[in-house]
Amino acid sequence: MSVEFPCDSCHAPMPVRRRMRGKTITCKACGVDTTIPARLDFFDAEIRGTVDRWDGSFYRQQAIVWSVLLLLPMVAFCAWTVSARLREARESGRTVAPELLSAWRWTIGCTVVVSIAWMAIANSLLR
Ligand SMILES: [Zn+2]
Repeated sequence: MSVEFPCDSCHAPMPVRRRMRGKTITCKACGVDTTIPARLDFFDAEIRGTVDRWDGSFYRQQAIVWSVLLLLPMVAFCAWTVSARLREARESGRTVAPELLSAWRWTIGCTVVVSIAWMAIANSLLR
């Protein structure tokens, strides 16, 4: 059984097995060495990875829906939640699901787009 562990440099997921804990592996995508945490909990990483994947898809979808409705606080909330989850995943040294990274880019992007839309609306109302 292997879990995916992100490269330190490019965050490309690398398959990691139990016996690779505490060892350094070279990323196939960018060639940078990443050390696998010795305390990486495989069972926990797998469960949390699944939750992250599910939440990543959920918040990305939510951010898109709220963006269409121009509800900036909801979009910002999604971005904030995904950022917190991403930071928690990295700090605990567990698998960062690609869905979570994708959700992070989407929610931040949506926040920027909706903010610009609100500024444009405010601008036209003040005229
Ligand atoms: Zn890499």
